[in-house]
Amino acid sequence: MTNYLKTSMKKPIIVVGMQWGDEGKGKIVDYLAKKSDYVVRFNGGDNAGHTVVLNGHSYKFHNLPSGVIQNKKVFIAQGAVINPHILLSEIELINKAGFDVDLSIDYRTHIVMPYHKLLDAATEAWKGKKATGSLKLGIGYCYEDKNNRTGIRVEDLIKPNILKEKVRTFFPLKKKIIERVYGQKVTLGPDSIIKQYIQYGKKLAPYASDVSEIIAANLGKKNMIFEGAHGTFLDPAFGSYPYTVAPYCIAAAAFTGIGIGPISVGVMGVVKAYTTRVGNGQFPTEQNNTSGQTMQRVGKEIGTTSGRTRRCGWLDLPMLRTAMRLNNCSTLALTKLDVLSSFREIPIATAYIKGKNKFAYFPPQINELSGKKPKYVILRGWQQDISKLRHFKDLPKYCKEYIKFMETQLAIPIKLISVGADRNSIITH
Ligand code: GDP
Repeated sequence: MTNYLKTSMKKPIIVVGMQWGDEGKGKIVDYLAKKSDYVVRFNGGDNAGHTVVLNGHSYKFHNLPSGVIQNKKVFIAQGAVINPHILLSEIELINKAGFDVDLSIDYRTHIVMPYHKLLDAATEAWKGKKATGSLKLGIGYCYEDKNNRTGIRVEDLIKPNILKEKVRTFFPLKKKIIERVYGQKVTLGPDSIIKQYIQYGKKLAPYASDVSEIIAANLGKKNMIFEGAHGTFLDPAFGSYPYTVAPYCIAAAAFTGIGIGPISVGVMGVVKAYTTRVGNGQFPTEQNNTSGQTMQRVGKEIGTTSGRTRRCGWLDLPMLRTAMRLNNCSTLALTKLDVLSSFREIPIATAYIKGKNKFAYFPPQINELSGKKPKYVILRGWQQDISKLRHFKDLPKYCKEYIKFMETQLAIPIKLISVGADRNSIITH
Protein backbone atom coordinates (compact mmCIF):
# COMPACT_ATOMS: atom_id res chain seq x y z
CA MET A 1 0.00 0.00 0.00
CA THR A 2 1.24 3.53 -0.75
CA ASN A 3 2.64 5.31 2.26
CA TYR A 4 1.35 8.85 1.84
CA LEU A 5 3.61 10.10 4.63
CA LYS A 6 6.63 9.54 2.42
CA THR A 7 5.51 12.23 0.00
CA SER A 8 7.27 15.21 1.51
CA MET A 9 10.27 14.77 -0.82
CA LYS A 10 8.40 15.61 -3.98
CA LYS A 11 5.27 17.54 -3.16
CA PRO A 12 2.72 17.89 -5.93
CA ILE A 13 1.80 21.45 -6.86
CA ILE A 14 -1.87 22.26 -7.21
CA VAL A 15 -2.48 25.11 -9.66
CA VAL A 16 -5.72 27.00 -9.10
CA GLY A 17 -7.32 30.14 -10.49
CA MET A 18 -7.84 32.85 -7.87
CA GLN A 19 -10.55 34.88 -9.62
CA TRP A 20 -13.32 34.03 -12.08
CA GLY A 21 -11.24 31.81 -14.35
CA ASP A 22 -9.21 32.79 -17.43
CA GLU A 23 -6.29 33.82 -15.23
CA GLY A 24 -3.79 32.18 -17.57
CA LYS A 25 -3.51 28.86 -15.71
CA GLY A 26 -2.73 27.03 -18.96
CA LYS A 27 0.43 29.01 -19.50
CA ILE A 28 1.55 28.58 -15.87
CA VAL A 29 0.87 24.82 -15.93
CA ASP A 30 2.83 24.57 -19.17
CA TYR A 31 5.74 26.42 -17.53
CA LEU A 32 5.70 24.23 -14.42
CA ALA A 33 5.22 21.08 -16.49
CA LYS A 34 8.68 21.52 -17.96
CA LYS A 35 10.20 20.48 -14.65
CA SER A 36 7.54 17.90 -13.82
CA ASP A 37 6.85 14.30 -14.71
CA TYR A 38 3.06 14.23 -14.56
CA VAL A 39 0.27 16.76 -15.16
CA VAL A 40 -3.14 15.74 -13.82
CA ARG A 41 -6.32 17.60 -14.71
CA PHE A 42 -8.66 17.13 -11.76
CA ASN A 43 -11.92 18.96 -12.56
CA GLY A 44 -14.07 20.59 -15.23
CA GLY A 45 -15.13 19.71 -18.73
CA ASP A 46 -14.66 21.19 -22.16
CA ASN A 47 -16.26 24.43 -20.99
CA ALA A 48 -12.83 25.28 -19.57
CA GLY A 49 -10.31 26.60 -22.05
CA HIS A 50 -6.59 26.87 -21.53
CA THR A 51 -4.28 28.56 -23.97
CA VAL A 52 -0.55 27.98 -24.36
CA VAL A 53 1.31 30.08 -26.94
CA LEU A 54 4.44 28.46 -28.33
CA ASN A 55 6.54 30.22 -30.98
CA GLY A 56 3.60 32.40 -31.90
CA HIS A 57 1.26 29.42 -32.31
CA SER A 58 -1.71 29.28 -29.97
CA TYR A 59 -2.67 25.85 -28.58
CA LYS A 60 -6.11 25.79 -27.02
CA PHE A 61 -7.11 22.91 -24.79
CA HIS A 62 -10.50 22.12 -23.38
CA ASN A 63 -10.22 18.55 -22.17
CA LEU A 64 -6.50 17.79 -22.45
CA PRO A 65 -4.22 18.84 -19.58
CA SER A 66 -1.96 21.77 -20.47
CA GLY A 67 1.28 19.81 -19.88
CA VAL A 68 0.73 17.97 -23.14
CA ILE A 69 2.94 20.23 -25.26
CA GLN A 70 5.82 19.71 -22.87
CA ASN A 71 5.61 16.04 -23.93
CA LYS A 72 4.83 15.02 -20.36
CA LYS A 73 2.68 12.17 -19.15
CA VAL A 74 -0.78 13.66 -18.69
CA PHE A 75 -3.84 12.38 -16.85
CA ILE A 76 -7.54 13.12 -16.79
CA ALA A 77 -8.78 12.28 -13.31
CA GLN A 78 -12.34 11.30 -12.43
CA GLY A 79 -13.19 14.82 -11.15
CA ALA A 80 -13.14 16.04 -14.75
CA VAL A 81 -15.76 15.13 -17.37
CA ILE A 82 -15.05 14.32 -20.99
CA ASN A 83 -16.64 15.30 -24.24
CA PRO A 84 -15.23 12.46 -26.39
CA HIS A 85 -15.55 14.36 -29.64
CA ILE A 86 -13.60 17.34 -28.27
CA LEU A 87 -10.97 15.20 -26.57
CA LEU A 88 -10.34 13.09 -29.67
CA SER A 89 -10.03 16.19 -31.86
CA GLU A 90 -7.54 17.69 -29.40
CA ILE A 91 -5.47 14.50 -29.42
CA GLU A 92 -5.47 14.52 -33.22
CA LEU A 93 -4.48 18.17 -33.35
CA ILE A 94 -1.63 17.69 -30.90
CA ASN A 95 -0.38 14.62 -32.77
CA LYS A 96 -0.45 16.57 -36.04
CA ALA A 97 1.60 19.32 -34.38
CA GLY A 98 4.28 16.71 -33.71
CA PHE A 99 3.70 15.98 -30.03
CA ASP A 100 3.02 12.55 -28.56
CA VAL A 101 0.00 12.31 -26.35
CA ASP A 102 0.88 10.12 -23.39
CA LEU A 103 -2.52 10.18 -21.73
CA SER A 104 -4.34 8.14 -19.09
CA ILE A 105 -8.01 8.68 -18.31
CA ASP A 106 -9.60 7.35 -15.15
CA TYR A 107 -12.21 4.60 -15.73
CA ARG A 108 -14.50 6.51 -13.41
CA THR A 109 -14.54 9.74 -15.46
CA HIS A 110 -18.01 10.72 -16.67
CA ILE A 111 -18.93 11.29 -20.29
CA VAL A 112 -20.86 14.28 -21.62
CA MET A 113 -23.77 12.93 -23.67
CA PRO A 114 -25.74 14.75 -26.41
CA TYR A 115 -28.83 14.94 -24.20
CA HIS A 116 -26.80 16.85 -21.57
CA LYS A 117 -26.30 19.60 -24.12
CA LEU A 118 -29.98 19.64 -25.02
CA LEU A 119 -30.97 19.89 -21.36
CA ASP A 120 -28.46 22.69 -20.82
CA ALA A 121 -29.84 24.72 -23.73
CA ALA A 122 -33.44 24.07 -22.66
CA THR A 123 -32.73 25.25 -19.09
CA GLU A 124 -30.99 28.43 -20.20
CA ALA A 125 -33.95 29.22 -22.48
CA TRP A 126 -36.31 28.64 -19.53
CA LYS A 127 -34.28 30.95 -17.26
CA GLY A 128 -34.60 33.75 -19.84
CA LYS A 129 -33.07 36.98 -18.55
CA LYS A 130 -31.76 35.18 -15.46
CA ALA A 131 -29.73 32.70 -17.53
CA THR A 132 -26.46 31.63 -15.91
CA GLY A 133 -24.55 32.25 -19.11
CA SER A 134 -23.85 28.55 -19.58
CA LEU A 135 -22.05 27.64 -22.78
CA LYS A 136 -24.69 24.94 -23.29
CA LEU A 137 -22.06 22.24 -23.51
CA GLY A 138 -23.95 20.04 -21.07
CA ILE A 139 -21.25 19.99 -18.39
CA GLY A 140 -23.58 20.79 -15.49
CA TYR A 141 -26.00 18.06 -16.56
CA CYS A 142 -23.18 15.56 -16.87
CA TYR A 143 -22.19 16.27 -13.26
CA GLU A 144 -25.85 16.11 -12.27
CA ASP A 145 -26.12 12.61 -13.72
CA LYS A 146 -22.91 11.65 -11.95
CA ASN A 147 -24.41 12.70 -8.63
CA ASN A 148 -27.80 11.19 -9.42
CA ARG A 149 -26.17 7.85 -10.32
CA THR A 150 -27.49 8.03 -13.87
CA GLY A 151 -24.22 8.89 -15.57
CA ILE A 152 -22.11 7.08 -18.14
CA ARG A 153 -18.47 6.61 -17.24
CA VAL A 154 -15.39 5.77 -19.29
CA GLU A 155 -15.70 2.18 -18.05
CA ASP A 156 -19.17 2.03 -19.70
CA LEU A 157 -18.13 3.84 -22.87
CA ILE A 158 -15.51 1.22 -23.66
CA LYS A 159 -17.93 -1.70 -23.19
CA PRO A 160 -20.50 -1.55 -26.05
CA ASN A 161 -23.08 -3.78 -24.34
CA ILE A 162 -23.10 -1.76 -21.14
CA LEU A 163 -23.15 1.50 -23.10
CA LYS A 164 -26.17 0.30 -25.13
CA GLU A 165 -28.07 -0.73 -22.03
CA LYS A 166 -27.38 2.53 -20.22
CA VAL A 167 -28.29 4.78 -23.16
CA ARG A 168 -31.50 2.77 -23.71
CA THR A 169 -32.38 3.18 -20.03
CA PHE A 170 -31.55 6.86 -19.54
CA PHE A 171 -32.34 8.41 -22.92
CA PRO A 172 -36.16 8.02 -22.85
CA LEU A 173 -36.30 9.82 -19.48
CA LYS A 174 -34.12 12.71 -20.71
CA LYS A 175 -36.22 12.98 -23.87
CA LYS A 176 -39.39 13.18 -21.80
CA ILE A 177 -37.96 15.92 -19.60
CA ILE A 178 -36.78 18.00 -22.55
CA GLU A 179 -40.05 17.58 -24.47
CA ARG A 180 -42.68 17.58 -21.72
CA VAL A 181 -41.10 19.84 -19.10
CA TYR A 182 -39.24 22.29 -21.33
CA GLY A 183 -41.48 21.89 -24.37
CA GLN A 184 -38.61 21.43 -26.83
CA LYS A 185 -38.60 18.83 -29.59
CA VAL A 186 -35.90 16.15 -29.50
CA THR A 187 -35.02 14.80 -32.92
CA LEU A 188 -32.12 12.70 -31.67
CA GLY A 189 -32.64 8.97 -31.13
CA PRO A 190 -30.80 6.44 -28.93
CA ASP A 191 -29.49 4.37 -31.86
CA SER A 192 -27.47 7.17 -33.40
CA ILE A 193 -26.04 8.07 -29.96
CA ILE A 194 -25.06 4.44 -29.32
CA LYS A 195 -23.45 4.08 -32.74
CA GLN A 196 -21.43 7.25 -32.37
CA TYR A 197 -20.38 6.61 -28.77
CA ILE A 198 -19.26 3.02 -29.45
CA GLN A 199 -16.83 4.53 -31.96
CA TYR A 200 -15.61 7.05 -29.37
CA GLY A 201 -15.22 4.20 -26.87
CA LYS A 202 -13.04 2.22 -29.28
CA LYS A 203 -10.76 5.21 -29.79
CA LEU A 204 -10.53 6.11 -26.10
CA ALA A 205 -10.17 2.56 -24.72
CA PRO A 206 -6.34 2.54 -24.96
CA TYR A 207 -6.20 5.52 -22.58
CA ALA A 208 -8.49 4.11 -19.88
CA SER A 209 -6.80 3.24 -16.58
CA ASP A 210 -6.94 3.66 -12.81
CA VAL A 211 -5.54 7.19 -12.51
CA SER A 212 -6.22 7.32 -8.79
CA GLU A 213 -4.01 4.28 -8.23
CA ILE A 214 -1.21 5.42 -10.58
CA ILE A 215 -0.99 8.83 -8.94
CA ALA A 216 -1.13 7.38 -5.42
CA ALA A 217 1.63 4.91 -6.27
CA ASN A 218 3.87 7.66 -7.59
CA LEU A 219 3.42 10.31 -4.91
CA GLY A 220 6.82 11.28 -3.60
CA LYS A 221 8.53 9.63 -6.56
CA LYS A 222 7.41 11.79 -9.47
CA ASN A 223 7.04 15.56 -9.72
CA MET A 224 3.41 16.28 -10.33
CA ILE A 225 1.23 19.23 -11.21
CA PHE A 226 -2.46 19.00 -10.39
CA GLU A 227 -4.19 21.30 -12.84
CA GLY A 228 -7.44 22.97 -11.82
CA ALA A 229 -9.94 24.37 -14.29
CA HIS A 230 -12.08 27.51 -13.84
CA GLY A 231 -11.39 29.71 -10.80
CA THR A 232 -12.10 30.00 -7.08
CA PHE A 233 -15.14 32.26 -7.51
CA LEU A 234 -16.73 29.84 -9.96
CA ASP A 235 -16.73 27.15 -7.27
CA PRO A 236 -20.33 26.00 -6.68
CA ALA A 237 -20.02 26.33 -2.88
CA PHE A 238 -17.51 29.10 -2.25
CA GLY A 239 -17.88 31.07 -5.48
CA SER A 240 -20.42 33.71 -6.45
CA TYR A 241 -23.37 31.32 -6.51
CA PRO A 242 -25.46 30.84 -8.67
CA TYR A 243 -23.13 32.20 -11.38
CA THR A 244 -20.81 29.27 -10.84
CA VAL A 245 -19.84 25.95 -12.44
CA ALA A 246 -20.73 22.38 -11.44
CA PRO A 247 -17.38 20.94 -10.19
CA TYR A 248 -15.53 22.18 -7.13
CA CYS A 249 -12.73 24.52 -8.15
CA ILE A 250 -10.78 25.15 -4.95
CA ALA A 251 -7.45 23.41 -4.28
CA ALA A 252 -8.91 20.73 -2.01
CA ALA A 253 -10.92 19.45 -4.99
CA ALA A 254 -7.67 17.98 -6.31
CA PHE A 255 -7.78 15.27 -3.63
CA THR A 256 -11.30 14.06 -4.33
CA GLY A 257 -10.97 14.79 -8.04
CA ILE A 258 -7.97 12.51 -8.35
CA GLY A 259 -8.77 10.09 -5.55
CA ILE A 260 -5.87 10.51 -3.13
CA GLY A 261 -5.78 11.35 0.55
CA PRO A 262 -5.08 14.86 1.87
CA ILE A 263 -1.29 14.84 1.58
CA SER A 264 1.06 17.79 1.93
CA VAL A 265 1.18 19.81 -1.30
CA GLY A 266 2.20 23.20 -2.60
CA VAL A 267 -0.57 25.43 -3.92
CA MET A 268 0.16 28.00 -6.58
CA GLY A 269 -2.66 30.50 -7.03
CA VAL A 270 -2.81 32.10 -10.48
CA VAL A 271 -3.87 35.76 -10.40
CA LYS A 272 -4.44 38.03 -13.34
CA ALA A 273 -3.04 41.54 -12.69
CA TYR A 274 -6.60 42.87 -13.03
CA THR A 275 -9.99 41.16 -12.80
CA THR A 276 -12.20 39.69 -15.51
CA ARG A 277 -15.48 37.88 -15.57
CA VAL A 278 -17.50 36.20 -18.31
CA GLY A 279 -21.29 36.28 -18.23
CA ASN A 280 -23.58 37.54 -15.52
CA GLY A 281 -23.14 38.14 -11.80
CA GLN A 282 -21.85 40.82 -9.45
CA PHE A 283 -18.42 42.31 -10.11
CA PRO A 284 -17.41 44.98 -7.56
CA THR A 285 -14.38 46.43 -9.37
CA GLU A 286 -15.83 46.30 -12.90
CA GLN A 287 -14.83 49.22 -15.12
CA ASN A 288 -17.58 49.84 -17.60
CA ASN A 289 -15.55 52.61 -19.20
CA THR A 290 -12.44 53.27 -21.27
CA SER A 291 -10.17 51.67 -18.64
CA GLY A 292 -12.16 48.44 -18.89
CA GLN A 293 -12.11 48.68 -22.68
CA THR A 294 -8.33 49.11 -22.67
CA MET A 295 -7.89 45.94 -20.56
CA GLN A 296 -10.29 44.10 -22.88
CA ARG A 297 -8.47 45.20 -26.03
CA VAL A 298 -4.86 44.87 -24.85
CA GLY A 299 -5.53 41.68 -22.87
CA LYS A 300 -7.58 40.19 -25.75
CA GLU A 301 -10.24 39.38 -23.22
CA ILE A 302 -12.34 37.08 -25.33
CA GLY A 303 -13.19 33.60 -24.02
CA THR A 304 -11.15 30.64 -25.36
CA THR A 305 -14.26 28.46 -25.34
CA SER A 306 -17.11 30.94 -25.37
CA GLY A 307 -15.82 33.55 -27.81
CA ARG A 308 -17.57 36.01 -25.46
CA THR A 309 -16.03 39.32 -24.44
CA ARG A 310 -14.97 39.29 -20.81
CA ARG A 311 -16.00 42.07 -18.44
CA CYS A 312 -12.89 43.83 -17.02
CA GLY A 313 -12.02 45.71 -13.84
CA TRP A 314 -9.25 46.51 -11.36
CA LEU A 315 -7.56 44.04 -9.05
CA ASP A 316 -9.77 43.11 -6.11
CA LEU A 317 -7.81 42.29 -2.93
CA PRO A 318 -10.84 41.26 -0.80
CA MET A 319 -11.50 38.55 -3.41
CA LEU A 320 -7.87 37.49 -3.40
CA ARG A 321 -7.65 37.35 0.42
CA THR A 322 -10.65 35.04 0.41
CA ALA A 323 -9.16 32.93 -2.38
CA MET A 324 -5.89 32.68 -0.43
CA ARG A 325 -7.74 31.35 2.59
CA LEU A 326 -9.88 28.92 0.61
CA ASN A 327 -6.93 27.49 -1.28
CA ASN A 328 -4.22 27.81 1.38
CA CYS A 329 -1.88 29.14 -1.29
CA SER A 330 1.86 28.87 -0.76
CA THR A 331 2.82 31.09 -3.71
CA LEU A 332 1.21 33.16 -6.44
CA ALA A 333 1.80 33.46 -10.16
CA LEU A 334 0.87 36.90 -11.52
CA THR A 335 -0.22 36.96 -15.15
CA LYS A 336 -0.95 39.57 -17.80
CA LEU A 337 0.98 42.31 -16.03
CA ASP A 338 1.93 43.66 -19.48
CA VAL A 339 -1.74 44.49 -20.11
CA LEU A 340 -1.58 47.30 -17.51
CA SER A 341 1.48 48.96 -19.08
CA SER A 342 -0.35 51.88 -20.69
CA PHE A 343 -2.14 53.16 -17.57
CA ARG A 344 -0.89 56.34 -15.89
CA GLU A 345 -2.57 55.35 -12.64
CA ILE A 346 -3.65 51.90 -11.51
CA PRO A 347 -6.26 51.56 -8.77
CA ILE A 348 -6.32 48.42 -6.59
CA ALA A 349 -9.34 47.66 -4.38
CA THR A 350 -8.04 47.05 -0.86
CA ALA A 351 -11.44 46.65 0.84
CA TYR A 352 -15.17 47.06 0.32
CA ILE A 353 -16.97 49.92 2.06
CA LYS A 354 -20.63 50.11 3.09
CA GLY A 355 -21.61 53.13 5.21
CA LYS A 356 -19.01 53.34 7.94
CA ASN A 357 -18.07 49.67 7.68
CA LYS A 358 -15.03 48.31 5.93
CA PHE A 359 -14.74 44.69 4.70
CA ALA A 360 -11.45 42.99 3.89
CA TYR A 361 -12.97 39.79 2.45
CA PHE A 362 -15.45 38.64 -0.18
CA PRO A 363 -18.73 37.99 1.68
CA PRO A 364 -20.08 34.44 2.13
CA GLN A 365 -23.59 35.76 1.41
CA ILE A 366 -23.40 36.96 -2.17
CA ASN A 367 -26.39 39.26 -1.68
CA GLU A 368 -24.28 41.15 0.85
CA LEU A 369 -22.16 42.48 -2.01
CA SER A 370 -24.97 44.81 -3.02
CA GLY A 371 -24.33 48.34 -1.88
CA LYS A 372 -20.68 47.64 -1.09
CA LYS A 373 -18.24 49.88 -2.93
CA PRO A 374 -14.58 49.09 -3.47
CA LYS A 375 -12.11 51.28 -1.60
CA TYR A 376 -9.21 51.94 -3.94
CA VAL A 377 -5.56 52.74 -3.42
CA ILE A 378 -4.16 54.40 -6.53
CA LEU A 379 -0.73 53.22 -7.60
CA ARG A 380 1.40 54.89 -10.24
CA GLY A 381 1.56 53.19 -13.62
CA TRP A 382 4.90 52.40 -15.26
CA GLN A 383 3.84 53.38 -18.82
CA GLN A 384 6.52 51.33 -20.49
CA ASP A 385 6.47 48.08 -22.48
CA ILE A 386 7.55 45.24 -20.20
CA SER A 387 6.74 42.34 -22.51
CA LYS A 388 10.34 41.78 -23.62
CA LEU A 389 11.79 41.81 -20.10
CA ARG A 390 12.90 38.51 -18.56
CA HIS A 391 14.53 39.58 -15.28
CA PHE A 392 12.84 41.06 -12.24
CA LYS A 393 15.61 43.62 -11.76
CA ASP A 394 14.84 45.10 -15.20
CA LEU A 395 11.17 45.80 -14.46
CA PRO A 396 10.31 49.52 -14.10
CA LYS A 397 10.23 50.90 -10.54
CA TYR A 398 6.45 51.37 -10.41
CA CYS A 399 5.86 47.93 -11.84
CA LYS A 400 7.95 46.43 -9.03
CA GLU A 401 5.94 48.56 -6.61
CA TYR A 402 2.70 47.10 -7.95
CA ILE A 403 4.03 43.58 -7.34
CA LYS A 404 5.40 44.52 -3.91
CA PHE A 405 2.07 46.11 -2.93
CA MET A 406 0.26 42.87 -3.76
CA GLU A 407 2.79 40.75 -1.88
CA THR A 408 2.54 42.96 1.21
CA GLN A 409 -1.25 43.19 1.19
CA LEU A 410 -1.66 39.45 0.70
CA ALA A 411 1.36 38.38 2.72
CA ILE A 412 2.54 35.89 0.11
CA PRO A 413 5.44 35.75 -2.37
CA ILE A 414 4.74 36.15 -6.08
CA LYS A 415 7.10 33.63 -7.64
CA LEU A 416 6.19 33.85 -11.31
CA ILE A 417 5.36 36.98 -13.27
CA SER A 418 3.96 36.62 -16.75
CA VAL A 419 4.47 39.58 -19.10
CA GLY A 420 3.16 38.21 -22.40
CA ALA A 421 1.15 35.37 -23.92
CA ASP A 422 4.16 33.44 -25.21
CA ARG A 423 5.56 30.53 -23.22
CA ASN A 424 8.88 32.35 -22.71
CA SER A 425 7.39 35.59 -21.39
CA ILE A 426 7.86 34.65 -17.76
CA ILE A 427 9.95 36.26 -15.04
CA THR A 428 10.90 34.24 -11.99
CA HIS A 429 11.10 36.12 -8.71
P1 GDP B 1 -6.87 29.80 -18.31
O1 GDP B 1 -8.20 29.21 -18.57
O2 GDP B 1 -6.71 30.26 -16.91
O3 GDP B 1 -5.75 28.92 -18.75
O4 GDP B 1 -6.76 31.12 -19.17
P2 GDP B 1 -7.10 31.31 -20.72
O5 GDP B 1 -6.18 30.52 -21.54
O6 GDP B 1 -8.55 31.16 -20.97
O7 GDP B 1 -6.86 32.87 -20.88
C1 GDP B 1 -5.67 33.43 -20.73
C2 GDP B 1 -5.35 34.20 -22.02
O8 GDP B 1 -4.34 35.11 -21.72
C3 GDP B 1 -4.81 33.30 -23.11
O9 GDP B 1 -5.17 33.82 -24.36
C4 GDP B 1 -3.31 33.40 -22.92
O10 GDP B 1 -2.57 33.17 -24.11
C5 GDP B 1 -3.16 34.82 -22.47
N1 GDP B 1 -2.06 35.08 -21.55
C6 GDP B 1 -1.60 34.29 -20.53
N2 GDP B 1 -0.63 34.93 -19.85
C7 GDP B 1 -0.48 36.16 -20.44
C8 GDP B 1 0.33 37.31 -20.16
O11 GDP B 1 1.12 37.35 -19.23
N3 GDP B 1 0.16 38.39 -20.97
C9 GDP B 1 -0.71 38.41 -22.00
N4 GDP B 1 -0.81 39.54 -22.74
N5 GDP B 1 -1.50 37.36 -22.30
C10 GDP B 1 -1.38 36.25 -21.51
